[in-house]
Amino acid sequence: MKVSQEIKQEANQYVDEVFQKLQVQNPNETEFLQAVEEFLPAAKLFFAKNPHLLEKNIFGQLVEPERLISFRVPWVDDQQQVQVNRGYRVQFNSALGPYKGGLRFHPTVNASVLKFLAFEQIFKNSLTQLMIGGGKGGADFDPKGKSDGEIMRFCQSFMLELQRHIGENFDVPAGDIGVGAREIGYLFGMYKKLNGMDFGVLTGKPLLYGGSPGRTEATGYGLVYFVENLLKDLHEDFSQHTVHVSGSGNVAIYAIEKALALGAKVLTCSDSDGVIYDPAGIDVTLLKEIKEIKRQRLTAYQKNRPDAQYFSKKSVWDLPFDFTIALPCATQNEISLSQAQNMVDHGLKIIVEGANMPTAISAVAFFAQENIYYCPGKAANAGGVAVSALEMAQDSQRMIWNIEKVDQELSAIMKNIYQTCRDTANAYDCPNNFLMGSNLASLEKVAFAMDSQGIV
Ligand code: GLU
Repeated sequence: MKVSQEIKQEANQYVDEVFQKLQVQNPNETEFLQAVEEFLPAAKLFFAKNPHLLEKNIFGQLVEPERLISFRVPWVDDQQQVQVNRGYRVQFNSALGPYKGGLRFHPTVNASVLKFLAFEQIFKNSLTQLMIGGGKGGADFDPKGKSDGEIMRFCQSFMLELQRHIGENFDVPAGDIGVGAREIGYLFGMYKKLNGMDFGVLTGKPLLYGGSPGRTEATGYGLVYFVENLLKDLHEDFSQHTVHVSGSGNVAIYAIEKALALGAKVLTCSDSDGVIYDPAGIDVTLLKEIKEIKRQRLTAYQKNRPDAQYFSKKSVWDLPFDFTIALPCATQNEISLSQAQNMVDHGLKIIVEGANMPTAISAVAFFAQENIYYCPGKAANAGGVAVSALEMAQDSQRMIWNIEKVDQELSAIMKNIYQTCRDTANAYDCPNNFLMGSNLASLEKVAFAMDSQGIV
């Protein structure tokens, strides 16, 4: 269908007006406004193609969370001092299914960060083609340096309130930064004590009771499957590439593991204190031992690998070494414009996001201008939440699938996401623009679902 100039203008004006109102309403929510701003070009194309949705104000409805809950989390530390943190759950959109998304425990957590994450989650979850809406939650609690007892008491207090707002058919939290299997276990224990054994109320559970095989690995493996599909289209494979990864959490570790298994050279990882550059390739067994078992900082890596270099207070994206693929797996806005320039100067060809919104808007624009393949997190890191939805399916069936089945499903889901983003970008006449492709493909589904459910 040819879109007239007049309709295009009307759609542009409509989307701009919705965004202006959002800016006025939320002047301090920079991360949330950034996530929505990144969406505007796709929204304009979509509403120009579907002008009958303009009068329903679907975009205006879409940018307002269905519900935002904020609550007090008091707990007692090891010195018997009473501490108070702020907990949240953002239930952003349920057009496609129960709210689904992780919990983040990190001092930077606030309403803006969680609204950006929950907004992104709506579209990520839509791309998986599974029946899940978008949500996110967490607290401004800093797990760094806390004892196991403190972590447990915090999780218990957090769940004492959160349990009123969640349910296996309503809202299903999982992990994110600062929340792994240990924390999910403590959260689940308190939920169970209060409400009984609803396996499906949290995902990312330990395998012992209702967890899915492969959930821990899913985001990192899925990310690498996404890249593998892109490389196939380019008639290349991982053995031709040098990969830089940032982060050393769950996403980074399993992205490194899978990329190494597929023949890539992976040279870096990082934590909030500094960067490891290992010219012999990251030793993922050592990395796992340090991060997953001993819960140490990355300085411990260098002590075991004297040829590796440690750059204190640096980012991976500042390093002066050549590479071709970037997998940012740390956190939002870790890549600024000047770092993007440094990356391109050192040979970058492909950047695929393991973290949520790790690239600043100006850096995204720069990558487009330089014809770098840029794939956003909402498409490329969807493997984690996809296997969470498979965990929900297993919990409903009262069955545990084997790892081969989960991995096969994950690989098929990631292939489908990759192809959907690629093909949608082509259909809207913006080839190789994976940001447009992912935003448009997911928006189509969410907007049509919202429209069919009426104004609610
Ligand atoms: N926190 C993860 C994400 O960003 C996973 C969420 C989930 O499994 O629900 O997608």
